[in-house]
Amino acid sequence: MTISVIGGGPIGSIAAVSCSKFDSVEIYEEHKEQPVQCSGLISKSGLERLGISAEKIAKNRIRGARFFSPLGGMFEIDGKQTKAHVFDRSEFDSFLLNLAIDSGAKFLNKRIDDISNLKSDRIILATGTNYNLHRKLGLDMPREFLIGAQYEMRVECDKDFVELHFNVPGFFSWIIPVEDYARVGLCARTNPVPYLDKFLQELDEKGRILSKNILNKNFGIIPVYNPKLKTDYGRLITVGDAAGHVKATTGGGIVLGGIAAKFSYEKNYEVKWRSEIGRELRLHLFIRRFLDRLSDKNLDRLLSVLADYGGIIEKRGDMDIASKSIIALAKNPKFIARLMLEMPYLLIDLI
Ligand SMILES: Cc1cc2nc3c(=O)[nH]c(=O)nc-3n(C[C@H](O)[C@H](O)[C@H](O)COP(=O)(O)OP(=O)(O)OC[C@H]3O[C@@H](n4cnc5c(N)ncnc54)[C@H](O)[C@@H]3O)c2cc1C
Repeated sequence: MTISVIGGGPIGSIAAVSCSKFDSVEIYEEHKEQPVQCSGLISKSGLERLGISAEKIAKNRIRGARFFSPLGGMFEIDGKQTKAHVFDRSEFDSFLLNLAIDSGAKFLNKRIDDISNLKSDRIILATGTNYNLHRKLGLDMPREFLIGAQYEMRVECDKDFVELHFNVPGFFSWIIPVEDYARVGLCARTNPVPYLDKFLQELDEKGRILSKNILNKNFGIIPVYNPKLKTDYGRLITVGDAAGHVKATTGGGIVLGGIAAKFSYEKNYEVKWRSEIGRELRLHLFIRRFLDRLSDKNLDRLLSVLADYGGIIEKRGDMDIASKSIIALAKNPKFIARLMLEMPYLLIDLI
């Protein structure tokens, strides 16, 4: 059997590695160097799940996160050991592409605009957020998107912690420490730049901007997961951003997209990836919709409840598998009692 992977991003490469174990694989990638539109934050557990040991190319190690509520509250999760790595995405992508080539896949630096010339038995569409082929072939594609903007610059921050500031409607702003600089960015449903400018101004007022020199600017779109999307068309399947395999809570698409890519060789691809990560993707979507409905006051209230039970998330939480934290919290009677006390306030936003 021959397999064509269209797109040599992380998900195309993971698919190619998985398929090369069994068959002859070719990867088509239109760029010589893939464009970077990412913060490069990937959980340690996620990389382990994917069987990728890329620690040696990591730029930084992260042990926890600080959440800032819209009304000024702060809640910290300290994993006490490395929980995530920060990568330079173009280095990370090349690393994965080389793994695919080393495992036997043939790399072709070529854009595919028409699949009718491909004679392969299976076509894996891993074209990220370029949906041109989806449109041409009448395939299902995500319809809802977030727009991301991110600047690399020197800001005052703790190198071991990422920061999430809930100051954007429908999402959050982040600060991800890299080396002697950080990635400061956010996602929004509309033009993100005015929100980012406002966030930078706030950081500046707090004296946290160490240099106004912007080292790099990144913009990109993130598909919002849609559980109804068809991803298996027999000879052709879609995977990664091309299939909307992205956590709606954080916009992260590498771990769950990568898990789906591991099934790209399987006959029952869609059934297999859904049984592995469908519930998690739906849960992330549910959490996102829930958070979207909360007023600033209630978001603050919710974060302060979580702050009191942060130890449970520290022990049992997982950046990708949201159900782990939720199940652990749900098993704690004190947490449930506290949540019940807050419920009348939260319900005002939910009904
Ligand atoms: C601002 C921002 C920050 C993010 N931060 C994170 C993060 O910290 N962690 C995380 O996990 N995720 C993050 N994401 C999401 C992450 O970048 C994506 O989920 C991930 O890149 C998806 O990988 P992919 O291989 O599906 O698509 P891509 O990485 O987009 O790769 C697709 C590849 O296909 C190629 N291609 C497209 N069409 C064709 C064609 N017709 N022929 C040949 N080649 C083609 C493209 O050149 C590209 O190289 C972020 C996204 C944004 C926008």
